[in-house]
Amino acid sequence: MAREPQSAFSESVMNEIRRTYDYRCVTCLTWTETSQCVSLIDDLQLHEAVRLGVLNEGFEGNSSTNGVVQCQNCHVLFTEHRIVLSLPIPVLEYLENYIRSDSEDPLHEVFDLLVDAWNGEPVDLPDPDTIIPYIGLFSLVTLDPTTSAKFTMITPYLPSLSIIRSNDKRFRKAPANTSATATNVARILDALEIKKNTPLKVGSIPLAPGIAAFEEKRYWRIPIPAGVVFAALMVGLQYDLSECEDIRLAKSIVQYLCHREVVMQRAVESRTWHQ
Ligand SMILES: [Zn+2]
Repeated sequence: MAREPQSAFSESVMNEIRRTYDYRCVTCLTWTETSQCVSLIDDLQLHEAVRLGVLNEGFEGNSSTNGVVQCQNCHVLFTEHRIVLSLPIPVLEYLENYIRSDSEDPLHEVFDLLVDAWNGEPVDLPDPDTIIPYIGLFSLVTLDPTTSAKFTMITPYLPSLSIIRSNDKRFRKAPANTSATATNVARILDALEIKKNTPLKVGSIPLAPGIAAFEEKRYWRIPIPAGVVFAALMVGLQYDLSECEDIRLAKSIVQYLCHREVVMQRAVESRTWHQ
């Protein structure tokens, strides 16, 4: 996440972001009048993401799709690189396999096709059904478990459990007796779903291993493109001290993207040389 809040957003874009999230922190779901519009990536990070095909050239860093609302507590955790948003592990695994299959499609095209698949459209991708429930969802990765263990993230709206049943392409409300750590079970935090009459249910979001609740899966439904989240995750990789599975997969994908970019660049140079 870009260090500077409200970096390149115009007043009208900031108002659009505030309206979308209604001044509610996208991470902990706390409402605060002093919440900030923050950009997920800055211009340099956008340039790198375009170079590697993670975002298309037309993506505008000062558009609302690069912005979320955050409370001060969460904002510091992101800007100090204690935590970072990620794509869910099933999506990262899918992308890693896809890129390893020597596909030349830029990642931003794959992201667009996955959204189409989520909308029920037939797409030219290998077996996307297993990851469709995870499209539009993001996870929170702790980059620095030792320091993050000192912080407590409290949410006023801890969601109840959701589950993906077999052959279902959406998370649904889980039965009352569901175990929080069962397979295909997660808590889905969605700032846009909190209404005036949503009952308070205060809970904590553990940021470091060592307590049972950290093993629960939590996803955030956020209306921003997966490419922006992946671009911000690429920045977070250099600060990682966790070596968790999300980070291993993301590093592997970035390595493949870098390798592919070098190969394509050499091919262009070779063609130019022979002309
Ligand atoms: Zn927050």
